[in-house]
Amino acid sequence: MSDISTWLENSKQQKLRQLNEDLNVDVAIIGGGITGITAAFLLSKQKKRVVVVDKDGISQGATGWTTAIITQYIDTDLKTLVENYDKKTAQLVWQSGKDALDFIRKTVQKENIDCEFVAVPYYVYATSDHEFDNIKQEFEASQKLTSNLTLSHDNTLPIKAHGVLTLPNQAKFHPVKYVSSLAQEAIKNGVSIYQAEVKEIKDQKVITKSGTIKAKDIIVATHLPFNEPHGLKFKKTKYKTYMLEVKLPTGTLPEACYQDLKSPYHYMRVDKRKGQDRILVGGEDHRRDIPVSEEKSFKALEKYFKNLLPKVKYTITNQWAGSVIETIDGLPYIGAFRDNPHHHYATGFSGNGMTYGTLSAMMLTDKIMGRKNEYEKIYRPDRKPTVSQLASKFADYAKVFLGGVVKNSLSR
Ligand SMILES: Cc1cc2nc3c(=O)[nH]c(=O)nc-3n(C[C@H](O)[C@H](O)[C@H](O)COP(=O)(O)OP(=O)(O)OC[C@H]3O[C@@H](n4cnc5c(N)ncnc54)[C@H](O)[C@@H]3O)c2cc1C
Repeated sequence: MSDISTWLENSKQQKLRQLNEDLNVDVAIIGGGITGITAAFLLSKQKKRVVVVDKDGISQGATGWTTAIITQYIDTDLKTLVENYDKKTAQLVWQSGKDALDFIRKTVQKENIDCEFVAVPYYVYATSDHEFDNIKQEFEASQKLTSNLTLSHDNTLPIKAHGVLTLPNQAKFHPVKYVSSLAQEAIKNGVSIYQAEVKEIKDQKVITKSGTIKAKDIIVATHLPFNEPHGLKFKKTKYKTYMLEVKLPTGTLPEACYQDLKSPYHYMRVDKRKGQDRILVGGEDHRRDIPVSEEKSFKALEKYFKNLLPKVKYTITNQWAGSVIETIDGLPYIGAFRDNPHHHYATGFSGNGMTYGTLSAMMLTDKIMGRKNEYEKIYRPDRKPTVSQLASKFADYAKVFLGGVVKNSLSR
């Protein structure tokens, strides 16, 4: 069994030039994941002079270790969104996710990107009657935002489920192929991409050991901002999430993306393949700073999967773990702080970095081009959470703690 992600294992890695000179450009982007490379792609189309630097290479961070489910159904559930924000904000959050998904869909078509992009339904399934009540509440909350979701109490899926909420026309792709294609396109438009570790940002200078990049605008797209800006210090937490790649008979489950309602939740994507289908199943998340045995977490994930499809013969071909960044109010931080409007941040995507990395690139491009963006206020990094947002996030932390850390630490 391999422990490198299926995406990195099955794609060509692009070797980058080392930075060994000083440069002067319009925009310096730190980080060559989906966020940084999408921003480079977009800004290069606006004729900006752009340099990207990454310490490890393109898609070597979370983007290379993701499940690559692309959905507007974000980890903060609709009921919480509607309760904790006003209706207009909840609607804008919903719409912003759709914009990102549509952008990826259109870009794949327009640029003719070969990245296994498939539009699929997104299923939220209940595994008990109590959970069915929860998805019923989700459905009711969704009616305030969209008429796209449907609810079924019958088990329409070949798993042990007690009802399903369905959101059509979401998607999945091969993230490394997608990001590599955007990088190639950006390079054609004049972008330079270098390998170098950024040590410091000083005013408008990006400082590495082997060269300094002077830029009017700087985008920190390093998943967790490497320079820990003061304004984000206590507003986000790193979680560890686990993933199994499973091969099983073709047609066992419909090709789609799935999640349940546990705390922490489990997520899956099913890929139709010749010979055998592939499922990526993930979950058992816990805070990074709490030591939980990896072995127990992988075992718990397998047990969960086995229980879901008890009669199915499967093989685990791969397993890996990675980080997701949670924020204290359940929405990401995208934008700049007042003290320096030219230092842009994009972090706190939870398990929705395909959607939010893309949205960040779109929003930051607008900002740098001096265009108004309707989502700027919602995601600004200096926003203050309300008491009810904090209370619901802490309740969620507690449930995830009991469900991930405690359960898997005590398991044999
Ligand atoms: C197991 C797992 C499953 C997931 N599933 C999903 C999913 O199904 N759908 C979804 O939408 N999201 C999912 N996510 C989240 C998503 O993968 C991430 O949010 C997203 O990839 C973040 O992209 P990014 O470009 O912001 O960061 P990254 O991809 O991490 O890129 C940041 C880059 O910055 C570079 N860097 C860091 N520090 C420095 C420095 N000092 N100098 C230079 N370079 C630096 C790193 O080398 C890295 O390449 C998942 C994450 C994990 C781990």
